[in-house]
Amino acid sequence: MAAKRFFKNKLSDSVGAHVEIPKADIKNLSLNYAQYIFSQQTVTADDCDGGLYVGLSGISYMCYYLSQHDQFTEKKQELLEKSLYYMIYALEDANHPRNRHTQTAFLLGGCGSYAVAAALMNALGKEKECQMHLQQYISLADRCMDLDYLGNGSDELLVGRAGYLSGVLFLQKVFGPEVVPEQKIDALCSAMIQSGVQYSRKYRSPCPLMYAYYKTEYLGAAHGLSGILQMLLSFPSFLQKRPDAEQLIKESVDYFLTLQLPSGNFPCAMDEVGNPRSEAHELVHWCHGAPGVVYLMAKAYLRWREEKYLRACLCCGDVVWNKGLLKKGPGICHGIAGNAYVFLLLYRLTDHHKHLHRAIQFANFLTSDEFKRARTPDRPLSLYEGLAGTVCFLADLLQPEKAHFPFFDVF
Ligand SMILES: [Zn+2]
Repeated sequence: MAAKRFFKNKLSDSVGAHVEIPKADIKNLSLNYAQYIFSQQTVTADDCDGGLYVGLSGISYMCYYLSQHDQFTEKKQELLEKSLYYMIYALEDANHPRNRHTQTAFLLGGCGSYAVAAALMNALGKEKECQMHLQQYISLADRCMDLDYLGNGSDELLVGRAGYLSGVLFLQKVFGPEVVPEQKIDALCSAMIQSGVQYSRKYRSPCPLMYAYYKTEYLGAAHGLSGILQMLLSFPSFLQKRPDAEQLIKESVDYFLTLQLPSGNFPCAMDEVGNPRSEAHELVHWCHGAPGVVYLMAKAYLRWREEKYLRACLCCGDVVWNKGLLKKGPGICHGIAGNAYVFLLLYRLTDHHKHLHRAIQFANFLTSDEFKRARTPDRPLSLYEGLAGTVCFLADLLQPEKAHFPFFDVF
């Protein structure tokens, strides 16, 4: 029998009347990890590859995120300078002509660097640079309008339109709702709807909106339907103007809901529907499975206020508790911090201390002897696979009322 992908969860799930966050320990751990990143991170052109996801701009984002955090104000200036240091290399790489083809990618390419750079320059009081990077970001929208501008599916989160829109949401939080012209946002959302309808009809999908990336109909947050639907649900002014689109989104979310497995998990792709993976191969990751789909269900609950979406979220929480102590490492894409973020989401949704307790338990597990047997990811310092994302999670555990998975906030 193949080995399990997760450590058996032996952590206590019993929670008293009050849950205490061990703030000093959590803050120390996050600063130790950050210090380790600073001591190990090199700054070659190769280090820029992978953008926010595993590249230098992701390290820059972590520094920026901490600099804006109430619990790290004494380090604000130092963190902003660190953020700028890494961002300069990332921007040089994003602007290089050899990388023109990845410029429109938010998590894996140039435009993610432009968005974070705009926020960073704003925090540094560099108004001219801030405006320049904002303009770079906004102008890239025009290159994302053709239905399949990438040629192998253009709607998913890591390189496609959903990613571009998640960047818009990030910029709106920093600069206000007007930062990207509404007409461009509407055009991108319309293209996503049209692309999904067209694909669904052509391949006779049971879901009214369906998409493929390199010929696979992924369902998860990273490459799949759930990240796309979540972004479509995140622009209320578009939904208000296009009730027909909202109807298609709702029918698609309701179809998605029927795919939840008894364990609480979701299949990775449509070809697994009715043909579930064995437990040894089941993926309980943010990128594939319940820990990513939970954000779509949370967004659906916040939009339509129907209990069935909240129930689905709680089932996601249970499978993450049972099978979420991943052996793949500490990161947010397919690691323990990413799964622990689910509990912070559920805590914000429900206000139940049980979820906060679970998040703390997962954070404690990071320093356990057992976790030392986990694998080291390919990019061990990075935002999505490595420690930089773990730092963001730990920082969020210090202020759970504001916690959100990076670039994936549903509130
Ligand atoms: Zn992943």
